[in-house]
Amino acid sequence: VKLVLLGTGTLVPEPNRASAGIAVVHEEQVYLFDVGRGVLGRMAEAGLRPLELEYLHLSHLHPDHTCDLVPMLFAMNYGAKPERAKTLHVTTPEGFHNFFDHLRRAWRWVEPRFPFHVREAEEGEFSEGPALLQTLFLEHGTMANLGYRIEIAGKTVAYTGDTGPADRLLSLARGVDILVAECSFSDAKAEAAHLSPTRLGQIASAAECKSLVITHLYPETDPDDVERSVKRSYAGEVVLARDGMEIEV
Ligand SMILES: [Zn+2]
Ligand SMILES: [Zn+2]
Repeated sequence: VKLVLLGTGTLVPEPNRASAGIAVVHEEQVYLFDVGRGVLGRMAEAGLRPLELEYLHLSHLHPDHTCDLVPMLFAMNYGAKPERAKTLHVTTPEGFHNFFDHLRRAWRWVEPRFPFHVREAEEGEFSEGPALLQTLFLEHGTMANLGYRIEIAGKTVAYTGDTGPADRLLSLARGVDILVAECSFSDAKAEAAHLSPTRLGQIASAAECKSLVITHLYPETDPDDVERSVKRSYAGEVVLARDGMEIEV
């Protein structure tokens, strides 16, 4: 099982970072979590065949987590050779149907010409091929945000999407091999809608995560400062995410 960091940035354009997107890959199966600006191209770079994707999971509907859905659907409709017949399963927080209605009114070419299955605003467990997934609502200001946990071939990865210091994250991250967590700002600039480094370290430690991948740092956030703050309470391995990184789970 491989974790591929496709987009490790935020809404701020940066030369070497796409917006949010990670993939968990096992054999031929790709599980994509978020599809922010630039993620589609990163998938192609990593050889993950974006037009054949079957399982997409959105944490929330902010543009930095959903932007590339438009070029993805357009390309799946008109760029796939041979024509796409596979179902695209999309798991989303609440609001997706309304959001998607607006998209297809603006761009009718995104209306899927292949089977399209949406699982909206469901908390709980479900399986996708060989993987078992769990979703849990995590607070992100006023935005509905789903955290994910995926278990496949005996490995587990949890992903926060964007979240404040939600205590519920503890249960989602309990004992995982890798927690991929957002950490937008340093402790000094901490906001209620995002995880602070100190709180993240405490949660990763209490949840006994085996390792931690920190992503979604704003450009003004000093990565070394974040790492130091996290490590004050967390003794496991810490990785500062960069686009294109591949990590064996
Ligand atoms: Zn974000
Ligand atoms: Zn957000």
